[in-house]
Amino acid sequence: MAKSSKQWLQRQNRDPFVKQARSSEYRSRAVYKLQEIDQKDRLLCPGQVVVDLGAAPGSWSQYASHQVGPHGRVLAVDLLPLEPIDNVLFIKGDFSEDAIYQRCLGELPGQVADLVISDMAPNLTGIRATDQARSMYLAELVMDFALEVLKQEGSLLVKMFQGQGVDEYSRALRQHFRNVRVRKPVASKDKSREFYILARGYNV
Ligand code: SAM
Repeated sequence: MAKSSKQWLQRQNRDPFVKQARSSEYRSRAVYKLQEIDQKDRLLCPGQVVVDLGAAPGSWSQYASHQVGPHGRVLAVDLLPLEPIDNVLFIKGDFSEDAIYQRCLGELPGQVADLVISDMAPNLTGIRATDQARSMYLAELVMDFALEVLKQEGSLLVKMFQGQGVDEYSRALRQHFRNVRVRKPVASKDKSREFYILARGYNV
């Protein structure tokens, strides 16, 4: 095994969130990021319509499905396959392709969504400027989509990476949402540039 793969495995085995996820029903440690934000900000409620962008392997959708319950709905999208989850409608494809974007819109006619969550991250090239530009492009698409599907007072939670474009992005969100905050849950590794923006109170 290559040295870097061995180190990755060692890190995984030491990670308390990986251990916790393995002994739970959740498919990924990522669930603890959403759970922490939800517990602090009370995002998810029974009966809501939620869109989960970049959903595979599915822990956010599992969590969202539990929280919204049988009277709610979750629409999940990813490039990768997703094992079925109760009450989650899955669209497999590239969200940056117009056909997939339009299919998602078609599932949410009118402005019916209470919450859009996006944990999408582009495949990293290792070239920082390229990776940042790709991540900002995805974040822009997520914002455009949220503005089309959210109902009045709806919320958006979107993964970001510290770097160029983040300040302009937050300013643009402030034009549409009453409250825009940064969230860095404990399960989001300190050394990672990843963080989340939570925008609440959409004014249609
Ligand atoms: N929140 C997920 C969970 O709890 O299981 C983990 C999401 S993972 C960090 C990021 C996901 O974004 C990957 O599964 C990846 O395939 C997806 N993704 C990246 N770019 C995408 C795109 N253009 N369209 C759809 N999915 C994309």
